[in-house]
Amino acid sequence: MRESIKSIICLLFLVCFISACQNDKQPTSSVDTPRQIRQIPAFNADSAYWKIEKQLDFGYRVPGTEAHQQTIDWIYSLLESYGAKVFKQEFKASFFNRQDVECTNIIAQFNPELTTRILLAAHFDSRIVAEKDDERKDQPIPGADDGASGTAVLLELARMISQNPIDIGVDFALFDAEDQGSEKVNWAQGSEYWSKNLLPIGYRAKYGILLDMVGSDKAAFGKEEYSRQLAPELQDKVWDLAKSMGYSDFFQDFYAGGVMDDHINVNQYANIPMIDIINMSPVDRVSFGAYHHTHDDNIDIISKRTLRVVGQVVTAVLYNESNGTF
Ligand SMILES: [Zn+2]
Repeated sequence: MRESIKSIICLLFLVCFISACQNDKQPTSSVDTPRQIRQIPAFNADSAYWKIEKQLDFGYRVPGTEAHQQTIDWIYSLLESYGAKVFKQEFKASFFNRQDVECTNIIAQFNPELTTRILLAAHFDSRIVAEKDDERKDQPIPGADDGASGTAVLLELARMISQNPIDIGVDFALFDAEDQGSEKVNWAQGSEYWSKNLLPIGYRAKYGILLDMVGSDKAAFGKEEYSRQLAPELQDKVWDLAKSMGYSDFFQDFYAGGVMDDHINVNQYANIPMIDIINMSPVDRVSFGAYHHTHDDNIDIISKRTLRVVGQVVTAVLYNESNGTF
């Protein structure tokens, strides 16, 4: 009896001591670790421009071609050299008269251990035909803006993150087989495959931003319809941020029509709210630049200023998110 009373007293003392310790600890443990405020780095448009030239040098990046494979190898090794955790996801796509062509999505992660994650996406394939051109309609297009520009801005952002630490997870999805659609087959086959077969398995992100045709001179980014339906708050926040940075000549307030692009699949199948930043006509609000799906989609229409604006806005989103101010 005595021994048990002693034990109980000891136990009570121990409990009091532990709770006292916890009380002592409470003030420090309830306060978050002070967030490190990160400077927003300057986006390097020269380096992004070079990354477009490099893709064009490979040739037409049509799935199944050597240029396409060289582009995959280049993107993969570049992202690895930036210290990202890189994944390849292989799948097959059929388009035009080609069946079961080998295609590859490339996913790269920075800070893979962190829970708060932002997904950035673009497609790197270029279109097999120039159906909107007056000449050589059955020949592939260079795709300087349609494909290479979004890819280049993403790769440059990855390089920037490798040199400027950030306190959130940032993921890059370089989708294949976006631009081989027709009346017979789907557009955006790569993002459809990824969104239905997430890699890494169980992947989650707070939100995503898709870049498509973000490099042409006098680009206008209206508020694309599907983004407005699926992620309206994110769209408004990004546009407001761009305007606050003095870029209202690019990020305009007009409501643009809906585009069947990678963000639809990411929203629909991966359940990640994703907006599309895409150059559309502020006049009719449904068409793209005159160069679209023609042989004129070459380096001559690319503007470093446009690349800088888009790159800088996405940079500000990421580092503001890291600082808790987006
Ligand atoms: Zn296209």
